[in-house]
Amino acid sequence: MSLALQDNVTAPAGPQRISTFKLLLQSRLASIGLVILLLLVAIVLLAPLLPLVHPDQTAPANRLIRPFVTAAHWLGTDQLGRDLLSRLVWGSRVSIAVGFAATLVAALIGSVIGLVSGYAGGRTDNLMMRGIDMLMAFPYILLALAIVAALGPGLMNALYAIAIVNIPFFARNVRGVTLGLAHREFVDAARLSGKGHLSILWSEVLPNVAPVIVITMSTTAGWMILETAGLSFLGLGAQPPQADLGSMLGEGRAQLFTAPHVAIVPGLMIFVIVISLNLLGDGVRDALDPGLKSGALSRPGPVTRIDRTKPAPPNSQPEAILSIEQLETGFSNGNSTTPAVRGVSLHLDRGECLGLIGESGSGKSVTALSIMGLVASPPGVITGGAIYLDGEDVLSMPETRLISLRGSKVAYIFQDPLTTLHPTYTIGQQVAEAIAAHQSLGRRELRERAIALLEQVRIPDAAARADHYPHQLSGGQRQRVGIAMALANDPDVIIADEPTTALDVTVQAEILSLLKQLQTERRMALLFITHDFGVVAQICDRVAVMKDGEIVETGQTRTVLTRPHHPYTKRLIACVPEIGDGDRFLPRVEKLMASQTKEAAQ
Ligand code: ADP
Ligand code: MG
Repeated sequence: MSLALQDNVTAPAGPQRISTFKLLLQSRLASIGLVILLLLVAIVLLAPLLPLVHPDQTAPANRLIRPFVTAAHWLGTDQLGRDLLSRLVWGSRVSIAVGFAATLVAALIGSVIGLVSGYAGGRTDNLMMRGIDMLMAFPYILLALAIVAALGPGLMNALYAIAIVNIPFFARNVRGVTLGLAHREFVDAARLSGKGHLSILWSEVLPNVAPVIVITMSTTAGWMILETAGLSFLGLGAQPPQADLGSMLGEGRAQLFTAPHVAIVPGLMIFVIVISLNLLGDGVRDALDPGLKSGALSRPGPVTRIDRTKPAPPNSQPEAILSIEQLETGFSNGNSTTPAVRGVSLHLDRGECLGLIGESGSGKSVTALSIMGLVASPPGVITGGAIYLDGEDVLSMPETRLISLRGSKVAYIFQDPLTTLHPTYTIGQQVAEAIAAHQSLGRRELRERAIALLEQVRIPDAAARADHYPHQLSGGQRQRVGIAMALANDPDVIIADEPTTALDVTVQAEILSLLKQLQTERRMALLFITHDFGVVAQICDRVAVMKDGEIVETGQTRTVLTRPHHPYTKRLIACVPEIGDGDRFLPRVEKLMASQTKEAAQ
């Protein structure tokens, strides 16, 4: 039915995708981490060129000089009279190098194990994962100690130990993602095209897993530097006289009270490196996977963010139950906002059915969700306009009042009832819950009311059906439950967002007539969103046509259907096939195509 709707009308150009690096720099903390880290890496890389004394050169006469006392030893000296600044730079060089090397080794081996295990599945997976489980069974510092004990102390052995104990984190993470990808359609398609396993892993799976690997690397690198320092601190990593941050800290321990600076200097350095790595790691994770973004700040708020720069326009339809005035809703990405709804004005009279029609992506759902502040924000933001519900501006209401109106004054019916119903509660419980959200009734009464509602939406044998779970119902019945829940508190307005799009034609007709009947019986106002003029013709009194976030035409359904003004409306109407019109349908589409080509050429 929506044959011509999808292809013929070009959508507005979307915003350009922001590069990951730019996204990273938008986080101030991550940028600070990145700058500090780059600075440190530059310094330790240039260590041989810097005018530093040799880090191991002792001078017993100059023991334990305090920092900032002599220009020759800017950070002071340790118990053997070695220059702390020089040892710090060379020591950081060793620590950073070992930490990064261990990260790379762990990432490489862990990712290969994870990829193979997740992709192969079955016995291979079982075997590999039990091996990983064995590694994970020990506390990892203990395991690292045991490995170094077996291999003998030394910096390289510490590196191996740290890498080995971190392999499970990579293997587990990568396996989890690979497992989900291994049976996705695009991987099956690659297999059917005759690609080998290796090539599929390399070109189909790995690119999808790569962000996870990078995220895990960036979040564990700081950790690994800390662990290396820990081993050196215990005397199992860097051996004297070589400096690394951990061994410097260990040597400073003996002088902690007489000359605290010997321990504090490397301690601060470890702190700075790990903090900057963690800040950067968090930033990388947020940039690559916004879904994982930590902290409560990024969770969608209970109502859409409102950021009106212009004063609210007055209510031009004071009689209407719902009146939307020049509504503007957009989605913010960083500094700019992409508009999705651009100055929409609509009104809904009491007891009226208004159809809102337009192709997919024209902004119908965003308009509908804006009414009760249900557009998730971030990223959603209402940038202008006003919404008057029974004369009261919804956008300037306190949050609690708005939330209390949801379901009681305005109720929604969504497209796919299987995703909006809870899979582990019976439908009776769910309808009862919808009632209980706004009315305090006893259990018994709630159940009776729920069954009565199910009867009203003509679920056969409602009393028995109330104990069924959503998956035991057909699509049409589930949508009836959705309608029952919307009716639960006798709302004045029902907003139905493509409630029949997921249903087949006969069920659609039944649901439509049910909705129409309930609406007239209860004198509710119904905002009916669809992309199908056939449906509009069946139940709506008036219709508003939406395109690219704007209303292009409104009027009585009959008038719009018989004398459409806007070319877009004409096209939408032409898409509705008529019964008995089969042989004339194709010529009609051809004519339509021809007129469009002509339009495009102009
Ligand atoms: P429809 O008319 O099919 O219901 P929508 O209202 O869902 O269309 O979408 C309108 C526009 O808003 C589309 O261009 C879509 O890309 C954009 N949009 C919707 N949700 C989001 C979101 N969460 N983030 C960014 N853009 C969105
Ligand atoms: Mg939609």
